[in-house]
Amino acid sequence: MKENDMPEEKKEAVEDTLREITVELAPKPQKKKTPVALQIVKWVFFPITLLVMLYRQFTTKVKVSVSVKMLIIYTLVFALILAFFTTFYVSSMRQRLPDNAQAAAYIKQLTVTSIILDVVFCIVFMALVAVVSTLMLNPICKMSDKIDDITSENLSERLEEIDTQDEIRELTDRINEMLDNLEESFTRQAHFVSDASHELKTPIAVIQGYSNLLKRWGAKDPAILDEGIEAISRESDNMKRIVEQLLLLARLGKFSMNKTRFNLCEVLDDMVDGYRVVNTTHKITFNGDAEITVDTDKNMLLESVRTLVDNAIKYTPAGGKINVSSFLEGEKAVIRVTDTGVGISAEDLPKVFDRFYRCDKARGRDSGSSGLGLTIAKSIVEMMGGKIFVESEVDKGSTFTIELY
Ligand code: ADP
Repeated sequence: MKENDMPEEKKEAVEDTLREITVELAPKPQKKKTPVALQIVKWVFFPITLLVMLYRQFTTKVKVSVSVKMLIIYTLVFALILAFFTTFYVSSMRQRLPDNAQAAAYIKQLTVTSIILDVVFCIVFMALVAVVSTLMLNPICKMSDKIDDITSENLSERLEEIDTQDEIRELTDRINEMLDNLEESFTRQAHFVSDASHELKTPIAVIQGYSNLLKRWGAKDPAILDEGIEAISRESDNMKRIVEQLLLLARLGKFSMNKTRFNLCEVLDDMVDGYRVVNTTHKITFNGDAEITVDTDKNMLLESVRTLVDNAIKYTPAGGKINVSSFLEGEKAVIRVTDTGVGISAEDLPKVFDRFYRCDKARGRDSGSSGLGLTIAKSIVEMMGGKIFVESEVDKGSTFTIELY
């Protein structure tokens, strides 16, 4: 039968067999031999690696104090060294002495004495390690006892100062610094909560008062009805604004900025145009260098500038002038909001950025002021790495300045 006459399946079977034979006959890649030195190192380190692994397994499962760990490790190492030298010494003596009964007795005696001495040395060494490790770790035990005493109620407690210059001293200092920061933020938070509840108490009291009045007289007297509804609606608005501002202030701490590059003058000009449309009682103007590009969170920056303009409108009598300007001063982009309003006294000036601070306490609440606007503006500007400050003179007006770097 010619090759061409062979059926197709047979042809494939023959080809497969030929392929297998070629693979079988192909020279096999030789296994690389590990160098002898490496093999010796492997064999020498194998028991040590095994010991370390066993030790790790043991210490992760069983609670063992650091001093006991130190004791085990150091004693093991010391015992191994002693055993090595003793074996070396006894076997070299055996080689040097003649092969007779007297020498054998001497070697036996030497071996027993060496073992006894080794055990004694090991015990003395263990005692020394125990004393030293206890002395070294004593400050850590004291530290951990003290930490147990520190709770949120007595955050002013601190760890005892250590008079050494080592890692334990560094650790004590770091923990004390951390406690300082914790105490500061706890105090700040406590003040924040007490200020906020104090501020919310007033509108709640007003709402309660008017509700009682309405319950008693509202149905009979339309004047009381109108006054009550108006006061309740005003105080609810106040409360809503305070809560919204408090939430914004709390969020600012965890806020991540959405930075964009934009032309500052264009954005401020648009904002001032918006004010001019709704406010006809004041003369609001804008002037600024056309080419200032900043890279920051546009909405947040506008939020703080709006606070300054809102305040300028609020504290400037009708007919007064308000000017917003922006310009470059060296590397800084400066935004300035100037008004010809009531101004701020020298006594109030350093406190206007404080939370819930109002210069005119009596009038402030009625005019819908919360004392949070400037605090929020300051937090935003500082978050952007900038600065905000105020200059003012009573009855002449105020100038608020934001500097962005
Ligand atoms: P709010 O205006 O809601 O009271 P702010 O934190 O914005 O809160 O302002 C704090 C205080 O600073 C105000 O109560 C006001 O007395 C004073 N103040 C702010 N801006 C001006 C201004 N442009 N002119 C005069 N006083 C101002």
